[in-house]
Amino acid sequence: MKHAKTATQNACKLCNPLGACLAFRGIEQCVPFLHGSQGCATYIRRYLISHYKEPIDIASSNFNEETAVFGGSHNLKLGLKNVTQQYMPEVIGIATTCLSETIGDDVKGILREYRKQTAADSGAPVLIHASTPSYQGSHIDGFHAAVRATLEALAEKGAPDSSVNLFPNMVSPADLRHMQEILDDFRLPSMILPDYSKTLDGGPWAEYHRIPPGGTATAAIARSASAIGSIEFGSTLEASKSGAGWLESKFGVPRYHLPLPIGIRESDRFFELLETLCRKPRPEKYQDERRRLVDAYADGHKYIFGKTAVLYGEEDLVISMAAFLREIGVRPVLCASGGKSGLMKAKLGELVGDLEGEGMKVRDGVDFSDIEDETELLRPDLIIGNSKGYTMSRKSRIPLIRIGFPIHDRFGGQRLHHLGYRGTQELFDRIVNTVIEGRQNDSEIGYTYL
Ligand code: SF4
Repeated sequence: MKHAKTATQNACKLCNPLGACLAFRGIEQCVPFLHGSQGCATYIRRYLISHYKEPIDIASSNFNEETAVFGGSHNLKLGLKNVTQQYMPEVIGIATTCLSETIGDDVKGILREYRKQTAADSGAPVLIHASTPSYQGSHIDGFHAAVRATLEALAEKGAPDSSVNLFPNMVSPADLRHMQEILDDFRLPSMILPDYSKTLDGGPWAEYHRIPPGGTATAAIARSASAIGSIEFGSTLEASKSGAGWLESKFGVPRYHLPLPIGIRESDRFFELLETLCRKPRPEKYQDERRRLVDAYADGHKYIFGKTAVLYGEEDLVISMAAFLREIGVRPVLCASGGKSGLMKAKLGELVGDLEGEGMKVRDGVDFSDIEDETELLRPDLIIGNSKGYTMSRKSRIPLIRIGFPIHDRFGGQRLHHLGYRGTQELFDRIVNTVIEGRQNDSEIGYTYL
């Protein structure tokens, strides 16, 4: 008999400042900086490096017993000075850890003082502060807080232009490159924030760079207030917490809010919006991608129709993946997330319809022990989520299809596509092949043709 749980066991979410550090890594010449203890920076670096396979420097104000009691003002100022001297960054992105949030350090006040003290210094970096207590929310909240804080620090009203802002949510570097390619093919001047497609998935260097090249330029972020609109992905992302929401309320830049474009229906909505914004049809190459995807759905349908899946991860990813799975005839019997926006069930219902009628269970704020218990009962054909579900997959002998973040136990997680027709095609092929591989392995006949 199972005992009632008294604590989270293997959380299905990550630390709030981790998301902020990832977003700050997507700003050109920016150093992420944690106001808190060294161990937080080490954990976050370990996690990001293992997924992206790139070196990641994260500075820290290195709290000790004294700082924890009397406040971290001195350490923060000294740390900012050291980072400025050593890295000469344009921007320092400061995220507050659980400890500094708990003792209630007045980071905004400390930064005001520090700016006054260094006002005469040439090359003083822009300081951006995102409040990221990890006992509230998850990595995705830290990510969005950093994006919004960046805009608050840098966006300035200028002469109106014809550009578009894209706030893509926490997607892979491969997805970011694909989004940029689409915007370029539409000939839409654009700014993607954040853009870690090079800083976290770049090539080898002929010479050492203290800060990896790439990222959204500060000048482009400044111009975002003059854009014709902002496209923002993420079903549960509310305007009051989002970058695009802030641009709309402060500068009147219209916010176009969409789910992550996964699957044909949601990708269509994204492309239709782009067509409206630039008043021309999509380039032929995307018509072709869509046609190939429709053809693949028809070809692969017989292998996967009626299969069931347990799906977990960030709420926005789970919602869009669930809609895509229904589109291809797979039933997500459990949609689970460690996140707890309170909106997941309603937003899923908007995309999928009658959840109960579809036999879909939705659980937010859960850990992997809860997901494992549900998986044992539901016995799905597939598990779909990040690599933290591997233990569950191994125990239950149900195949795990790895998506999202983090992917620690496979190579190339940063190059997985999820978005648009191209990303959907990749996901669809992986799902069909996983089912075929299972059947082939279970077959008594070693067949070699389908
Ligand atoms: S203590 Fe808080 S900020 Fe530090 S690693 Fe843990 S969850 Fe993240």
